[in-house]
Parts: sequence; C-alpha cells; structure tokens
Amino acid sequence: MANFGPLKIVYSEKFLLHDTGGGDHPETAARLEAIWDSLRNGPLAKSIEVLSPRKVERDLLLSVHSEAYIFRFEEACLSGMEMLGHPDNRISYDSYEVALLSAGASQSGIDFLENMEGSHRVFCCVRPPGHHSEKALALGFCFLNNVAIAAKYWQNAYGRKRIFILDFDAHHGNGIQEIFDEDPNVFYASIHEHPTFSFPGTGYEEDTGSGPGEGATMNIALPPGSTDTQVLRALEEKISQAIDRFQPECIIAAAGFDAHEYDDMSGLAYSTKVYGHIGTHLGAWADSYCEGRLLSILEGGYNLDVLGPCTEIFLGGLCLKM
Ligand SMILES: [Zn+2]
Repeated sequence: MANFGPLKIVYSEKFLLHDTGGGDHPETAARLEAIWDSLRNGPLAKSIEVLSPRKVERDLLLSVHSEAYIFRFEEACLSGMEMLGHPDNRISYDSYEVALLSAGASQSGIDFLENMEGSHRVFCCVRPPGHHSEKALALGFCFLNNVAIAAKYWQNAYGRKRIFILDFDAHHGNGIQEIFDEDPNVFYASIHEHPTFSFPGTGYEEDTGSGPGEGATMNIALPPGSTDTQVLRALEEKISQAIDRFQPECIIAAAGFDAHEYDDMSGLAYSTKVYGHIGTHLGAWADSYCEGRLLSILEGGYNLDVLGPCTEIFLGGLCLKM
C-alpha cells in the first residue's frame, strides 16, 4: 500500500456557477464533479482536506491584467453577454465573480504552504482555467491567468523571487509566456503538442524569452501521437536540467490533463499513469530545491471519463511518501 502525505485542495462549489451555456462546450462544471467523484472514492480520500478560496485582491489582479480588460470582462458578464471576444470564451452572469475566486484560490494555497510546518501538497481545483489568458485578452476558455497571479502573489506577499512554472497541459500556455516573457525571475517551461498542429499556435522551441528574460522560457513541442516516452524524457532531461540551473524558491504546476490519449482536445497520447510520474517528479523537485513549496493549479482536461483518474493519480504522485 502506498503511503500518502497530507493534501489540501482549494475548492468552492461556486466554481460550478460559471455557466458555459450547455451544448457542446467542453469546459463545464461537470469537469470538477468528475474529479471529486474520483477523489472521494479513491485511496487519497483520507489525506484530503478542503481549503476555501478567497477572491483575488485587486492590486494583485492588476499586476497581471490591464484595468480596461478587467472592466470589459465584468461589464460583459453583468450585461448578460454570452461570450467575451470569441465563442470559445462563453460567459454567464456569475462568470466574473467565479473567475475572481478561481484566480484567488492560489492565495489561500500559498498562505497555507508558507505558514505550515512540514511537507504539504496543495492543489487548486478551479475553473475557469487560466493559462491562455493574456494581459488584456480572453482566449481558449480562459479569462484570468490563475498561474501568473499565483506567481506574483508568491513574490509580492512572501518575497519569494525565483518561481519555476511547469505547464504540462497539452496546449501551450501563451498567456503565462506573454506575461513573463521579459522576466528573468519567473521561468516558464511548457511541454505541449507542437504549435503547427495545435491551439493556440504558439510555443515554438526557439521562443526562449526576451530582453532580460532571455533563457527563462523553455518550450518543448511534441509531435502529435507522442506518448509517455516523450513526456518522461522531456521531464528527466530538459526540465530537470532547467530546474537545476534555475534553482527556484517555489514551483507552480499548470496541471492540465488534456494530453491523455482519450482526450480529443489534443493529438497527444499520454496514458493515465504517466500523470503519476509527473506528480512524483514535481514532488521530488519541490522537496530538493524549494523546501516543499509547490502549488498545483488545474488547467485543461475535458474527457470526463479520464479527467478524474488522471488528476487522482497525479495527486497521488505528488503526495507519495518515499
Ligand atoms: Zn489544454
């Protein structure tokens, strides 16, 4: 029997209120329900405690997004519009408030990590997701960049300067890359399906950051059909070396599960169990470089049959006690 350490999940039922209109929109409340169905009935159930999120602080929000964009998003929701800029970005009356809570979940998680003794793992089980949203742009179901906001919070509230972000969603996190493109203190590493074949069409390997941020972006673009072998090689070689060179104080995982072979949002073909290995690597890096300071935030994952098991096995890897 595996032995798991404690796991805090930042969650609120309010995340279910962001209504993407039914029909065939893939980013639905049922995603979070599928995750909880797996967790409640699985081996991690006894290790889990829920933390309540709080709304993102205004100053923190404005350290990532433009005020004009924030107003436009709020206004669109409150005036009953059904989308923000593109039909992918479906909104409802509650979406703005829910997005503030989704973006603020990391504050609760980071406060917990910074104030507790011993090793804990924290997963923000949130929606809407965030990694495609840019400073002033909603894209790919994303409105506020939850991961970028978490990195800023860690820096601003606790003086942790060097943050390493690992994004293993099938899609490139163009928003995170844009926000930290020139920032040498936030390293953005993404493993995704090659942009020639995949949304949003960014994340070429030659993009390595700009100006003072040159060298603090790493894109690993996998061809369609890539399996566990390719993602594990990327983790054990390029990502592992990048973390060692960068010597982070904190790690944030942009945890998307849409590279699974049964998730038709990408052409990647990972197994369920590979997410356990990703979790184990992240946990080990966090313990060796960052005294356990690791926060994971849900991004994509749309096949409701595999999203729960993939998330559970990932969290099991994170929490595994060797
Ligand atoms: Zn994705």
